Amino acid sequence: MNYDVVVIGEGISGLTCAGHARRAGLSVATFEANLFGGLVLNVNELDGYPGAESGTDLASRLMQAAAEAGVTSIQEEITAVRPAGGAFEVVTGAGNHGARQVVIASGARLKKLGVPGEAEFEGRGVSTCADCDAPMFQNEDVVVVGGGDSAMQEALVLANFCRSVRVVHRGDKLRVQRHLADRAGAHPKISVMWKSTVEAILGGKMVEKVRLRHDGKIEKIACAGVFAYVGLEPSAGFAPPEIGRDAGGHLLTNDALETAMPGVWAIGAVRAGYSGLLRDAAAEAERVAKAVRDRLD
Ligand SMILES: Cc1cc2nc3c(=O)[nH]c(=O)nc-3n(C[C@H](O)[C@H](O)[C@H](O)COP(=O)(O)OP(=O)(O)OC[C@H]3O[C@@H](n4cnc5c(N)ncnc54)[C@H](O)[C@@H]3O)c2cc1C
Repeated sequence: MNYDVVVIGEGISGLTCAGHARRAGLSVATFEANLFGGLVLNVNELDGYPGAESGTDLASRLMQAAAEAGVTSIQEEITAVRPAGGAFEVVTGAGNHGARQVVIASGARLKKLGVPGEAEFEGRGVSTCADCDAPMFQNEDVVVVGGGDSAMQEALVLANFCRSVRVVHRGDKLRVQRHLADRAGAHPKISVMWKSTVEAILGGKMVEKVRLRHDGKIEKIACAGVFAYVGLEPSAGFAPPEIGRDAGGHLLTNDALETAMPGVWAIGAVRAGYSGLLRDAAAEAERVAKAVRDRLD
């Protein structure tokens, strides 16, 4: 099939962009490798995005709006994007589709800790979804790894259920919004271990402890759960090599959010310079939908 616009990814950026582009009269297809909604799908309490109670509500509302507008949603992973006779071809395992313009909104994945035990105990104490799994850790001690907004947000969720939440952070200060730092700092169940890194996750059938390097010394602390939020890595492996990347692999764009390949745009968490805030993802998406429509006029 051929479309005016192909949007890669059905996260908040992709769904917002697709809905706006379709309502501006363009034919639009979205491609999604997993479930729609992206990173926020399982976040129960969104921060800084007015009007939406949870990530599921927000993603469902955008998905429904896109469907009602007439966006075609295709459950296939894009494996390549290439120029084809003045337009583009997007490639999936099931075939090729034509696009006059391409919007890359493929976002990012949570980074792994990369320590022994992490893969082995996945689903047996190791998790990256506090909102999904916190009730299973009722009255247990858990460890959250990371020192950013996501780590603190998820520590607060876990504190509603767990006996204690130990935040293990390699730095000596948090990189979080003030109100999250204040809430976590005031919570009696949350404590932070500064200058600490997890070196291994240990246990039998389930997680029982983590081995840490704390201020230069090795320590073991007992815990039933380990939740890691140590940053994101962009999902951009399929993007053409002509599109520049920053040192972290995020796609480079100009101020108009267009990449070095004219007609290919990048928005949201896959883009170098993205703020990390949902409201900015939505704003970028809306801007690019408008720019694409103007380009195709
Ligand atoms: C735990 C956590 C909590 C957060 N809470 C908040 C919050 O409260 N407030 C806030 O402002 N921000 C929050 N954030 C940040 C926010 O989630 C992101 O900034 C935002 O979701 C980015 O949206 P996106 O659409 O750009 O990318 P994503 O959400 O990553 O969506 C990208 C989509 O593209 C799909 N995809 C990837 N590659 C391909 C491919 N090759 N083919 C097809 N599809 C593909 C993915 O499966 C995914 O569905 C949180 C992040 C995390 C990790």
